[in-house]
Amino acid sequence: MLSYRHAYHAGNHADVIKHLTMALIFQSMHKKAKPYSYIDTHSGGVDYDLLSDEAVKTGEAAEGILKVLEHPLLPESYRELIKDYNPSGILARYPGSPAIAHHFQRAGDKLQLMELHNNETSVLKRKASRWPDTAIHHRDGFEGLPGIVPPEPRRGVVLMDPSYEIKTDYMKALKSIKAAYKRWPTGVYALWYPMLIADKSQMMLDSFERSGIRRILVAEISREAGQDETFGMIGSGMMIVNPPFQLDEQLSESLPALAEAMLGKTAVADVRWLVGE
Ligand code: SAM
Repeated sequence: MLSYRHAYHAGNHADVIKHLTMALIFQSMHKKAKPYSYIDTHSGGVDYDLLSDEAVKTGEAAEGILKVLEHPLLPESYRELIKDYNPSGILARYPGSPAIAHHFQRAGDKLQLMELHNNETSVLKRKASRWPDTAIHHRDGFEGLPGIVPPEPRRGVVLMDPSYEIKTDYMKALKSIKAAYKRWPTGVYALWYPMLIADKSQMMLDSFERSGIRRILVAEISREAGQDETFGMIGSGMMIVNPPFQLDEQLSESLPALAEAMLGKTAVADVRWLVGE
């Protein structure tokens, strides 16, 4: 039974690092006119009302996008897309990953959106089924990814953004990306992961390091755990296989200041190559 609902977390610091990284990746894809494929293995419900009961209850956007929207180091393409989404000038709707991919979609670029949860799939179908060149799959994204690669067009980007509510998600992410990479070694694979006090993500990264996959960049933002804290998310990271040229520099420039703005004085940002060429 899946209970995770992204509406509670939309626009938080994890969404900011994830979505600004994706915006930078799409921007790089646009440097060539050749169309690309975008595969979203865990799409969620397209976009989110920041004034909904769910969002107001957690107030996570207040510690995320609302802290950095006007920050000079926020990548301009990410700021623009959020502003386009909120033409009144008041930040009331936050675009999720399918909406971001659609914002960057050009004629010929193809989107494949997967989602397992029944309700989220209904929302996804309602909001995205009329988008051009967009296929929606009601299925498990870990299993689905290796089954649909290499995609057509072959140039392409994957976002894998599991909720990790089931602990096996860490190893499923590893297995799925390894299998997909075997069939499609030139794809760009972006995987989001949480950094928790009782952390499983390091184990997953260690396994990726030994996997034989080359060119893996990681970018993380986190803060020191509070004195009484034994659970909870202290930050999160993006692992990118085959990152576009200069993504490492772009993230190194912007993340330290953005992390501090969202996570406070003890925040750190770490951008490093897990595996080189
Ligand atoms: N990627 C979205 C974004 O950036 O706006 C947020 C996705 S949310 C973190 C994770 C989503 O994955 C939830 O909507 C959940 O229902 C869905 N999900 C959970 N397990 C899944 C699976 N095995 N395959 C596909 N979707 C799954």
